[in-house]
Parts: sequence; structure tokens; C-alpha cells
Amino acid sequence: MEDTMYDLIIIGSGPAGLSAAVYGKRAGLNILVMEKNPMSGGQVLTTYEVDNYLGMPGVSGFDMGMQFRAHADKLGVEFCETTVESIEDKGDFKTVKTQEKEFRTKAVLLASGAEHAKLGVPGEEEFAGLGVSYCATCDGAFFRGKTVAVIGGGDVALEDAIYLARICEKVYVIHRRDEFRGARVLQQELFGLSNISVLYSHAAVKIQGNEMVESLTVKDLKTGEESQLSVSGVFIAVGIRPNTQLLENITSRDEAGYILAGEDGVTDRPGIFVAGDTRKKPLRQIVTAVADGANAAISAASYCSQN
Ligand code: NAP
Repeated sequence: MEDTMYDLIIIGSGPAGLSAAVYGKRAGLNILVMEKNPMSGGQVLTTYEVDNYLGMPGVSGFDMGMQFRAHADKLGVEFCETTVESIEDKGDFKTVKTQEKEFRTKAVLLASGAEHAKLGVPGEEEFAGLGVSYCATCDGAFFRGKTVAVIGGGDVALEDAIYLARICEKVYVIHRRDEFRGARVLQQELFGLSNISVLYSHAAVKIQGNEMVESLTVKDLKTGEESQLSVSGVFIAVGIRPNTQLLENITSRDEAGYILAGEDGVTDRPGIFVAGDTRKKPLRQIVTAVADGANAAISAASYCSQN
């Protein structure tokens, strides 16, 4: 067990975690940020270009992640590259157990983000950020006038397809079943758009290209026949997985695993806070993660001053 008693341990160093670190540090808290990956930034790092963050049009996701981290470094935030194994509430304090040791802290802020479910087909990893995207609102503008494919049949896939249809010349929607899972109202809107072509009972089997995506091989699941679609972009929308397992049985989560907390990041467990994509909320973007981090850090500071 580490001797130091931290005020706040932040788990995750994406935009939410780093924003919380900056606000928490400025509020005078003794903070430790734990990050699983050697580089801060979370999902931002793999975003080719970010064009919807106020004041930084067209910034590369990588540069943005580096700038966020540099800001926290400038304030002297302490980082620890490690994998957290468990969080325990000991009443007066919490423990955060990693592979190496156990840390004590008054409060914990979970900002471990969410991961887009992967499709697991050849080319997906290779072309991530080079035509393969998991976020139409983030990356759609880069495919203006082009042909793209959206994979999935849930709300996100339908919303993405509708959004992209306004920007792109043509949008294929590839869905593995005969009917969509997504809301009827979205289906109606989608069917009304002439530049969307739906391929039901089809699976995406391979993404190809040279430097960027050039085509997608799809398979008709009824006939077994494969064909190639010429596309510049492949938007994968097959679900999202919040990284909230650490708070299972500690705080309330919804059926999809998102932690229930208001904009202040306060959960139903005193001293446990959440920010960013781990929190149940309507819009998951960098700007909302940054706002969440600030709010949750201030909530944590208030908690620490009273406990
Ligand atoms: P989702 O509802 O879980 O849908 C995932 C879709 O991807 C399903 O159509 C599923 O097919 C398909 N899929 C899953 N794994 C696949 C695979 N390996 N290969 C091919 N297809 C695969 O996920 P989501 O659309 O990301 O939405 C997440 C949650 O947010 C949902 O609860 C959704 O309702 C909610 N949401 C709500 C709104 C809104 O209310 N406006 C907007 C966005 C999201 P099957 O249908 O065959 O299972």
C-alpha cells in the first residue's frame, strides 16, 4: 500500500480525465491520473482530424491529445501508467488497486471512456483514421461528395446514415438482418432519402485500399455471394461499450453500462465521480467530455473539503 493519501485519483487520461486533472489541480487537490496507455488522449488520438472543437478547426486528433496532455503536465499533474484492477470503498477513503500496488485516495473519478465495438474484419484496424471511422458527426465532413458505407442497424447506424446522406453523394447501409433495430422514426427518415441504399442480410467482410479506404467487400448472407462496393469511407456503428466495469456493484449503471450521474459527475456512491463517455448522457463528444471533467473535478473538490 502506498503511503500517500491522494485527494483525487482520476482513472483515464482522455479529454474528460485531463480536463478534470487541470480543474482539480487548480482547485488545489493532490491528484494522480492513472492511464492504461502510454499516451494520453483516449479516442481522440485515433481521430484523423477534429473539426468540431471550438477554436481549433481542423486540428489533428493526435495533436489535440498532445496539447491536452501538455496542459496537464504544465500544471505538474502526476501521472501513472498502469492498469487499474479494482476500486474499493473503505468508507473514509477509497483504494485503487493496480497490478503493482494499492493507492489510497479520498475520491475517485472514473473517466475511462467508452470504446466503439469493433467489427473484427480485415482492414478495419489498418485503415482506422484512414477511411474507417466510428463517428459520423466527427469525421463525416471529410467525405463530402464521396460514397461511403455505414455498418449496423441500430439508432447510431441510422442516425449516421442520415447525417452522412446530407454530405455524401451516396451512402450504403450494410445490416446483417432483414430489419433494423433502430427507431421507426429514424427508419422512416432514412427510407425517404434517395441517396441511401440499404443492403439487408449483408455482412461486411473486408475493407480494402492503398493508403486510404477504396472498397468494401460485402457478403449476401442468404446466397453467400460476395461483391465489392467502391467506397471512400466505412463508418462502423455496431454498438458502444463503456469502460465502466470497475464500478460494477459500486455505483448505479443503466442497462448498457453507462454510469448514472448528473452533469456534476456525482454518482450515488459518495466520493465516486464520473466524467465523459462513462456517464449516461445524450451527446458524447470531446467538448462534452471536457465540460464533464471540469464539473466532476469541482464536485470532487467540494467533496474533499467536506470529508
Ligand atoms: P445498438 O443499438 O446495440 O445497435 C448495434 C447494431 O449493430 C445492431 O443493429 C446490430 O445488429 C449491429 N451489430 C452488432 N454487432 C455486429 C456485428 N458484429 N456485425 C454486424 N452488425 C453488428 O448500438 P448503437 O446503435 O450504437 O446504440 C447504442 C445505444 O444508444 C442503443 O441503446 C441506442 O438505442 C442508443 N441510442 C439512442 C439514440 C436515440 O435515442 N436517438 C441515438 C443513438 C443511440 P442486430 O440488430 O442484428 O443485433
